[in-house]
Amino acid sequence: MENKKELKNWLNAFNLKHPLVIAGPCSAETEEQVLTIAHQLKNSDATVMRAGIWKPRTRPGNFEGVGALGLKWLQKAKEETGLLIATEVANANHVDLALEHDVDLLWIGARTTVSPFIVQEIAEALQGTDKIVLVKNPVNPDLSLWLGAVERFHTAGINNLGVIHRGFSTYEKTRYRNNPEWQIPIDLQNRFPDLPLILDPSHIAGRRDIIFDLCQTALDLNYDGLMVETHHNPDKAWSDASQQITPDTLDQYTKDLKIRKEVGEAAEFKNRINTLRTQIDVIDHQLIDMIGKRMKVADDIGALKKAHNVAVLQTKRWNEILGKMILQGEEKNLSEEFILRMFKAIHQESINHQEKIIKK
Ligand code: PEP
Ligand code: MN
Repeated sequence: MENKKELKNWLNAFNLKHPLVIAGPCSAETEEQVLTIAHQLKNSDATVMRAGIWKPRTRPGNFEGVGALGLKWLQKAKEETGLLIATEVANANHVDLALEHDVDLLWIGARTTVSPFIVQEIAEALQGTDKIVLVKNPVNPDLSLWLGAVERFHTAGINNLGVIHRGFSTYEKTRYRNNPEWQIPIDLQNRFPDLPLILDPSHIAGRRDIIFDLCQTALDLNYDGLMVETHHNPDKAWSDASQQITPDTLDQYTKDLKIRKEVGEAAEFKNRINTLRTQIDVIDHQLIDMIGKRMKVADDIGALKKAHNVAVLQTKRWNEILGKMILQGEEKNLSEEFILRMFKAIHQESINHQEKIIKK
């Protein structure tokens, strides 16, 4: 990807604003739904309308998309509103159908990026196209796999290329549907600063209430755009209902988001510091998560102590824990004084928790 500089040009060539806003439903459901959403988006900051036509579902039996019929609805939405249209393609046949229906932007889903054979097939079907192609990160946190897919499209002569960060799956339950692992897109951005990077906060969040914050983090990290699942009646959506927002909410979000786009040396400094601050934020979240988990275990111990009539405070065990933590802290360059203060606070909170349980 030596001519990276050219990669960001399509944002200008297609006359797309900064940040690029792609919005629309998880899935096209009916003609009326597609057109209603398109008209609501028409006067928003969104310039591209998305809708899934073929839906890759984790388990069978869920809504798997309306198929090629939905492409006609998208085409109609484009005619009526002037929005560009976007959909996910997962094989060469999808590509042919999307091109026949004049889809402007095709994205590669997270479950497709993991498979080099299928990526190659799609890249060959798209050979030399001037459509915009965005590659979502693979479901697993693997930067090479993501880059490998981008390279296959680049080699196939696709220059209007970009990537979408949609988070990574984990077995462990977190506050996200897909863990953001910001470090991975940050690494990618450092290596290919001119490859447009778009955030999909919807599939990271899996729920509405944290979408705004995710968007702000992305803009602070100098992302080029957002792809947000948007539905006129989110609760009634046929797929991903809990993470969709209305076009009105999206409009409010794009008004409230702070866009920090600067150039030159000052921008480099700001990007770097924002990146580092975001890393700190991510770690702080993890710290609170971990401490919350620790308190839950303390609660279980409290219940057990209550059942067996054992005292809450057990000084001997506490001193043992502290001794071990001081040693481990030393290895990480953390002072004894800090470890003592931190664990006293944590221990006090555990005791408070246990006393509450015992008094119940
Ligand atoms: C989607 O964008 O609707 C979708 C299925 O996303 P992902 O490939 O990120 O799961
Ligand atoms: Mn979805």
